[in-house]
Amino acid sequence: MASPTLRGGLSLFSFRGIKVLVHWSFLLLPAWIVISGLSDGVPFTQLLAHVGLVLVVFVCVVVHEFGHALTAQRYGIRTRDITLLPIGGVASLERMPEDPKQEFWITIAGPLMNLLIAALAFLIVAITGVSLFFSDLLLGATTWTNVLSFVIMANILLFLFNLLPAFPMDGGRILRSLLSMRLPRERATDIAAIVGRMFAVGFVIAGISWGQPFMALVGVFVFFAAGSEARSVRQKARLEGITVGQVMRTRYWSLQRTATVQQAVNELLAGGDSVLLVLDGQQLAGLLVREDLMSALQNGRDQDPLSDLPFRAVSVVAPKEGAHKAFQRMVIEGHPVLPVLSEGRIVGIMEPENLAEYLQVQQAAGRKG
Ligand SMILES: [Zn+2]
Repeated sequence: MASPTLRGGLSLFSFRGIKVLVHWSFLLLPAWIVISGLSDGVPFTQLLAHVGLVLVVFVCVVVHEFGHALTAQRYGIRTRDITLLPIGGVASLERMPEDPKQEFWITIAGPLMNLLIAALAFLIVAITGVSLFFSDLLLGATTWTNVLSFVIMANILLFLFNLLPAFPMDGGRILRSLLSMRLPRERATDIAAIVGRMFAVGFVIAGISWGQPFMALVGVFVFFAAGSEARSVRQKARLEGITVGQVMRTRYWSLQRTATVQQAVNELLAGGDSVLLVLDGQQLAGLLVREDLMSALQNGRDQDPLSDLPFRAVSVVAPKEGAHKAFQRMVIEGHPVLPVLSEGRIVGIMEPENLAEYLQVQQAAGRKG
């Protein structure tokens, strides 16, 4: 999987600037194996072997995710981190390329890694002449030849499973990229999302009827992720050609840098915004949020000038910039607002809500006309 969301977890290691994290929910997986095994009367040592094999699978999953991340790196797209979840790995790419060819290669690189691992394991088998025991795999794969058989089988399964066209899983992304070589991206995404949701429902039904909770979980994940990605692509298509100047708010809260914290708090209580632009004459000096003012007040700094407070990092936009691009930057870099500057002067601010509001107004206007 390659997704632009999700954060948090225990850091394992870093490779080429990409952190590998384990999400806390990952622990549910070994816990579930041990608990369900013990209740079925499976001996403890065998359970440990099972947990070991699951960890082997996750090593392969990490290699798979690096396939995505390192290919993305070649196209100049950074990956924030790779997070391991009980349902698989997620490489948090800062964005997905719009070029369908790039999306195709970034996506297919993951499953190809699993094919590569399987091929290497086969090579070891061929060179050393060990025999494979696929049949006794689940009966306690403790010998290393059994582990080798397991690695081959698991990677072929990972390869095939990921190629299922269940958007936004890899196969679905590949489908979308192939479709968007012929169709508009929006249409291609809609088709891939519909196919993805059908697979998702199938996963949930199969997971429940076969007693495989993690498969059902994958289905739930795919179902919602397909919808949210299709929405964001649709929104983006509707925002094509729309500039920051068209969606920005021209009314905003500002104070001169010489104003005191108390003055700012008074204005806040009288109906100020969540974000305060601190000005130096006509120039933007810095940005403060409600919490900054509150903590200054708590620390008895009510008579300090605003310029004495530590300002937030600010990123600015020009009115001519594309609204969607600016919006993405705001989300990725985590800015509460983007001040809009024209010739060094503030002409407005852009907030996350602006896009949604703009689209609603457009929709309402469209209905009228
Ligand atoms: Zn993948």
